[in-house]
Amino acid sequence: MISADDALERLREGNRRFVSDEVSKDAVASREHRGGATTPQNPFAIILACSDSRVPTELIFDRGIGDLFVIRVAGNIVAPSQIGSIEYAAKQFGTRLVVVLGHSNCGAIIATLQELGLKDSHRAPNLRAIVDRVRPAVEPIMKDRPNVDDEAVIDSCVRANVQASVDKLQHGSLILENLVAADNLKIVGAEYSIETGIIEFFGDH
Ligand SMILES: [Zn+2]
Repeated sequence: MISADDALERLREGNRRFVSDEVSKDAVASREHRGGATTPQNPFAIILACSDSRVPTELIFDRGIGDLFVIRVAGNIVAPSQIGSIEYAAKQFGTRLVVVLGHSNCGAIIATLQELGLKDSHRAPNLRAIVDRVRPAVEPIMKDRPNVDDEAVIDSCVRANVQASVDKLQHGSLILENLVAADNLKIVGAEYSIETGIIEFFGDH
């Protein structure tokens, strides 16, 4: 299995190709390998991304079948089933990179901000389960800048929510903690811009 740093470089390169509209022969070839389903999977990165239809994970990294182990859930939140999926992939396939991928204009973040502005919320209980997981990350930002419609506020909240998910993965699982400490597992945050297609990895600038 390739290292976390090499995996990160592959993702960066793939996103550069996506942004510049180049078509990768590798990704196209692997899309054609549908017949090879009996070969064991060997994903080089685990991605926890939002379900938003404008954030199709393989496409924006220009990767194909078998490359990425993807978990998608509105707001890229971390609940026990997400942790379990990531533990499984890291253990089973030896994948050494986990990316939490948020994105601009995230509906789950905006819904949470709206919720914070409402005294009586009528949100359905299962949707509340998502909003309640986003809330702790965005509440401190809202206290300073209560204008829900401000794009800069939404973006700060998107990034804070990604960071909160990274922290939960780093400290909410003994299995992942041990892999980070002893086996060079890396858990990093990133934000996808729906406007430009560019993915910025946290700590890049
Ligand atoms: Zn979203």
